[in-house]
Amino acid sequence: MGLVRVSEILKMADKAKTSVIAFNSSDFNMIHSVFTVAEELNKPALVMLDPRHAALWGWGTPEVYAKMCIEEASRVKVPVSFHLDHCSDYDFIMRCLKAGFPSVMYDGSMLSYDDNVRNTRAVARVAHAMGADVEAELGHVGFAATETDQDDLDLYTKVDVAARFCEESLCDSLAIAIGTAHGFYKKTPKLDLERLQAIDAAVETPLVLHGGSGVPDDQLEKAFTMGINKFNVGTEYFYLYYQVVKEYVAAGNEDIFNMQLLVQERLMDYLRKKMQLCTMTVTSPVSLSERPLPALRTGVPQGGVL
Ligand SMILES: [Zn+2]
Repeated sequence: MGLVRVSEILKMADKAKTSVIAFNSSDFNMIHSVFTVAEELNKPALVMLDPRHAALWGWGTPEVYAKMCIEEASRVKVPVSFHLDHCSDYDFIMRCLKAGFPSVMYDGSMLSYDDNVRNTRAVARVAHAMGADVEAELGHVGFAATETDQDDLDLYTKVDVAARFCEESLCDSLAIAIGTAHGFYKKTPKLDLERLQAIDAAVETPLVLHGGSGVPDDQLEKAFTMGINKFNVGTEYFYLYYQVVKEYVAAGNEDIFNMQLLVQERLMDYLRKKMQLCTMTVTSPVSLSERPLPALRTGVPQGGVL
C-alpha cells in the first residue's frame, strides 16, 4: 500500500515547500529502518540502490532489491518508494526498470550537454512507457575528497541551461550542482542558494540535492524552502552502520543476532533526527496512490538504444 511513484512524492514535497529524504540503503537493515521510521513519523521517505552495490546479490541484485523494497513498502501506510542512484549503464538501468524500480537516475553529468540530453531522453522514453520516473544531473556534483570539486564554479549548474535541459531531456527531476560533493567534507560546504532560487524560478521540474552528508542543517532548511524536493544522503548513513558494528565488536560482543538488532536500533535513532528536516507529514497517504504503479513490466519497448 505504501509504494507510490517517486514523482508523486516529489510533487507533494514541492507543494509543502520541503524535501523528501532519500537514503542510500544496501541491505534489509537499512531499508527496513527507513520505512519503519517514515511510518512512525508519518512522513514520506525513499531508499536508493547505489550501482556500486550491483554485485551484492550477484546477477539478481535489481530483482532482489526491488522485491525487498516492494514487500517492505507494503507494510507501511505512508508513501515510500525506491530509486536507482547514479547510473550511466543503459543495460543496468533497463534491468532495474524491468525488475520494478519506480525511479532511476541516468547520470550523464560528465558528458557534453548534447550527449547528456540525448541519453537522458532515451532512458526517459523507456522509463515513462513503463510508468517509471527519471532523475537526471546537470552540472556535476563531484567528490568531497577532491576539495576543488565543491568550489569549482565551472561544475555548478547554469541557470540558463537548466530550463532548456529539463524540456529537452524529458527528465522528471533534476540533480543540480550548487556547492555540495559526495563523501565526507574536508571543509564545511556553502550552498549557492541564490543560484538555487534562480534555477527553481527557471524550471518546473523538482530539484535534487546530492552530497547531503555533513551539510549544516540551517543551509538545508533554506535549500528545501527554495526548491530542493529530494535530498540524497549516503555517506553518513553507511558510516553509522560501520561505526555500530565496529563498536559492538570492539566491546567484545559476540552475539551476532543482537548485533543486527542493535544496528537497526541505532540506524532508526539517526533517522528519527534526520527525517525531521522533511517538514511535511502525510495526512491521507491513500489518496496519493489512486494512480497505482503500472503492473505491466514484462517487456522493454524497442527504440531506447543510446
Ligand atoms: Zn549523488
